[in-house]
Amino acid sequence: MNNSIKDKILASIDVVEIVGEHVSLTRKGREFVGLCPFHDDHRPSLSVSPQKQIFKCWSCGAGGDVIKFVQLSQRVDFKEALAILAKRAGIEPNNRPRDDQAAAMREQISRSLAWARTHFQRNLQQTPGGRQAAEYARGRGISDAMIERFALGFAADDWDDLLSHARRAGLDENVLGQAGLITTNENNKTYDRFRNRLIFPINDAMGRCVAFGGRTLGDDQAKYLNSPETALFSKSRVLYGLDLARKAITTSREAVVVEGYTDAVLLSQAGVQNVVATLGTALTDMHAKTLVRLADRIAMCFDGDEAGLRAADRAVETALRHRVEVVVVVMDDGQDPADFVMGRGVEAFKSILQSATGALEFRWCRTEEAFRSSGQRGQRDAVEAFLRFVAQVTLAGGLNDPIDHGQLVNRLAELLTISAGDVVALLVKNKAALSRESSGTIPEIAEMSIYDEAVRDIPPGMVSAAEELFGFALSSSEHFAVMEEALSAGAQQCDPWRRLDEILEELVEHRGQYTKADVIDHCNDAGLCELVDRAIRRIGASVVTAELCQAAAGRLLAELDLLRMKSLRGDLSGGDCGRGPCDKETFDALCEVARHRHDLLGAEPHWKASR
Ligand SMILES: [Zn+2]
Repeated sequence: MNNSIKDKILASIDVVEIVGEHVSLTRKGREFVGLCPFHDDHRPSLSVSPQKQIFKCWSCGAGGDVIKFVQLSQRVDFKEALAILAKRAGIEPNNRPRDDQAAAMREQISRSLAWARTHFQRNLQQTPGGRQAAEYARGRGISDAMIERFALGFAADDWDDLLSHARRAGLDENVLGQAGLITTNENNKTYDRFRNRLIFPINDAMGRCVAFGGRTLGDDQAKYLNSPETALFSKSRVLYGLDLARKAITTSREAVVVEGYTDAVLLSQAGVQNVVATLGTALTDMHAKTLVRLADRIAMCFDGDEAGLRAADRAVETALRHRVEVVVVVMDDGQDPADFVMGRGVEAFKSILQSATGALEFRWCRTEEAFRSSGQRGQRDAVEAFLRFVAQVTLAGGLNDPIDHGQLVNRLAELLTISAGDVVALLVKNKAALSRESSGTIPEIAEMSIYDEAVRDIPPGMVSAAEELFGFALSSSEHFAVMEEALSAGAQQCDPWRRLDEILEELVEHRGQYTKADVIDHCNDAGLCELVDRAIRRIGASVVTAELCQAAAGRLLAELDLLRMKSLRGDLSGGDCGRGPCDKETFDALCEVARHRHDLLGAEPHWKASR
């Protein structure tokens, strides 16, 4: 795989998610369907394929990959779409591309993690220690079904259980180290990182294992231990349980965020399936971005102790920057969400989620509390922090309800015993300071769409001629015979053209005719879909006649002649005689092509008019 930003985006952003934000999608077999946003659609014509990562509309022909979708839906060009998506995926546009070696290492790490997940699971099921670990999990209230669903495992109480099995499986020690599975002490002795622990595999959104978390089963001081940050794992990106919760989140448009894996597992077991957990870190911008794509409301649950409240403060700030409804649930002191749901049931839990405090309200109460309980200095700090917070949130577009805003101003005025006008002035000042700080620009991106890359080296005149011809060919099979020769001649220039031509030829051969929808049905990758989209756009609402088709075919053939002439001229001037033609055969060929081209253009009545 290539390492361009485009490839990273295509690898990390799901087209179904992005399309799902604009269109209500329903599953139909292996694909999703919905009303096409690009034409006036009354019965679902848009299909989105999670396997092929493309979208296409059988009716208007819009289609391509996720980047193309953003281009069309947000009316931006390719580079802007790339920048929008890179920002969402947390990809730095100016990242230096990783080399192939690093990519190969990631692949190996991924394989060793998948192997380790199976190894831990097998330990849990088949060893005496594992059976005790499972017993412990059950003691915590985790059912066998959840042990299975979350693929819980057991790391043996041994220094080299994983290491020795891995060696026997032929895995490379260096890779195991890079995967965070083994570690080396100061005496250069290598041993298993996870020992005597109940293992929670941590997966990415696609369900691929990227790390592990382990709860000690002995008296290890570290109650919970996670994999270190690796090439595949960053705790500021990964949300535990997202692979399993994703569907429930997109269906309910709400995500419940808890702080630990046991909470996530137990809530899921109780029937709160839209639950994810952060991994020993406050909610980050990256987490928020992931969730905002899937949900309209984020409910964050925190333990009811001081640490929990502080975590809530930070999480609220982050979440509110992302234009999403954020509510905060703080459990009673000493309780975590799992205790609550096991003690009082899922309905009680859902009802506290429903009546949870809005994030802004929560942040306000915390400020007010700090204000009332501190001296002058502390009061000033609390208010300044709050003003800055409000400025940040508004700048990010997160607080655009005028009623909320008005209330906020009034409350601040009351608390500070100043006028509402002064509060507004303070807010404006904070906002101005912040926007000065954050006025960065998006770096230039020198990349092209998959289709543009395919046609990069083809003369622009030929690209437009070919696309136009494909446009006519797509609109109806009636005049296919007129265009066939030119299409198959042009098709050799690049892969998407060749494949679209093959699809047309095959349909004609087998059925004698085709409709646009038939052709689109056969297009199964982004390059092809984009070609179809371009071709259809290029001819617009033209009424397709045999003459128009013939003219377009002539233009493409003439462009091909021009290319051939250029290459023959190159051959001639490359000869060693220095001046004039020295190769008779080449010269004759050149004349022949030139004549052919002249005939084509001469026979073409609409040459100037239709350009
Ligand atoms: Zn459409």
